[in-house]
Amino acid sequence: MPKGKVLLVLYEGGKHAQEQEKLLGCIENELGVRKFIEEHGYELVATTDKDPEPTSTVDKELRDAEIVITTPFFPAYISRNRIAEAPNLKLCITAGVGSDHVDLEAANERKITVTEVTGSNVVSVAEHVLATILVLIRNYNGGHQQAINGEWDIAGVAKNVYDLEDKVISTVGAGRIGYRVLERLVAFNPKKLLYYDYQELPTEAVNRLNAASELFNGRGDIVQRVEKVEEMLAQSDVVTINCPLHKDSKGMFNKQLISHMKNGAYLVNTARGAICVAEDVAEAVRSGKLAGYGGDVWDKQPAPKNHPWRSMDNKDHVGNAMTVHISGTSLDAQKRYAQGVKNILNSYFSKKFDYRPQDVIVQNGTYATRAYGQEKKSL
Ligand code: NAD
Repeated sequence: MPKGKVLLVLYEGGKHAQEQEKLLGCIENELGVRKFIEEHGYELVATTDKDPEPTSTVDKELRDAEIVITTPFFPAYISRNRIAEAPNLKLCITAGVGSDHVDLEAANERKITVTEVTGSNVVSVAEHVLATILVLIRNYNGGHQQAINGEWDIAGVAKNVYDLEDKVISTVGAGRIGYRVLERLVAFNPKKLLYYDYQELPTEAVNRLNAASELFNGRGDIVQRVEKVEEMLAQSDVVTINCPLHKDSKGMFNKQLISHMKNGAYLVNTARGAICVAEDVAEAVRSGKLAGYGGDVWDKQPAPKNHPWRSMDNKDHVGNAMTVHISGTSLDAQKRYAQGVKNILNSYFSKKFDYRPQDVIVQNGTYATRAYGQEKKSL
C-alpha cells in the first residue's frame, strides 16, 4: 500500500521530449521526480488532462491525493470546489513562481500548505521582459516580416522604430523580477527608472542601480519610487508589470488606468494575464493609445483560440509581441525548478517541513509570503 498519492500535472512534450532530454517540465520527463517519489513509498499519478472541471482526470485523481504539483505554464486550477472534493490534500507545489492558480483563501481555510520554487526563473523572465521591450520599441516584427517576405520598405518599418536610450521605463512591482528588469535596463542608459510597489526597495539596492548607471552612462540618481501608479504611468514610455496576481492586482490595467498612460507608450506583462483586462488592452492597441503590448501570460491557460490578444493588432500590424507562456520555462529554469520541487518534497516526506521560507506562500491557515504583505524585502 502506498503511503499516499502525488498528483503531477504537466504539459505534453510529445516528440520534443524525445528530442530534448532537458525538457524536464513536460509529462514525459515528470520533472525527474518519479523514482524519488516512489522510493519514499508514495504513488505518482501524472496527467495532462486538467480541463474541464469537474470531469477531467485531475478532478478524479485529486480526490484522494495528498500532494499536487503543477506549473504556471499549463496550470491545473486548484479551485475552491476542487479543494472541497480533495479531503486528503495537504500540499500544493508550484513548479515555478506564482501560485495564483491555487485558490489561496480556500487553501488557508483548509490549512493546506502552498509552496513554489521562489527565484527559480526570475532571471529567465527578466530576460524575456527585455526581449519583449526591444521587439516592440525596435519594431523587430515589422522588419522581420519584410525580411522573410522579400520586401525592402525601410520607411515602412522605421516609422515605428525608437531607441530605448533616454526613455522613462517603469515597473509595477519591484520584487525579484522587477528588480532584475531594472538592473538589466541600466545598460540601455535610460532617462529614469521608476517603480511602484507597496514595499520600498532597500537603499543599497537603489544605490547599486544608480552607481552602475553613473559608471556606465555618467548618469546617477535615475531610480525613483512613485507613490501613485497613475503618476508613474503618466511619465513612462515603457511600463512593465512584475507583481503577483491577487485581489488588488486583478484587472488593475483596465481602460481607466490605461487612460493615464502616455499616448503611444508600450506595455509589457509577463506577470499574469488577469492583471490586465484583455479587451481593454486590445482596444488600446487597436486605437494607438498603446503603441504595443507584449508578454507571455494569459488569463486562462491554454488561452482559447479566440482570445483577443491572439488577434490584437494596430494599423501597421506591429503592436503585438505576445508569446505563449514560455518566459519562465527556459531549459535553465526547468532544471532549477525541478530541483526545487524535489527539495520541497524532501522536506515534506521527512516530516521536517523545513521548507525554504521564501518558498512558502500559505501555511497553517495564513499567508507567509511578503509579496502579499508589508515585510522587508530580500532580493
Ligand atoms: P516577488 O515576490 O519577488 O515580487 C513581487 C513584488 O510585487 C513584491 O515586491 C510585492 O510587494 C509587489 N506587489 C504585489 N502586489 C503589487 C501591486 N498590486 N502593485 C505593485 N506591486 C505589487 O515575486 P517575483 O519573483 O518578482 O514574481 C512576480 C510575479 O511574476 C509572480 O507572482 C508571477 O505571477 C510572475 N511570474 C511569471 C513568470 C512567467 O513565466 N511569465 C515566471 C515567474 C513569475
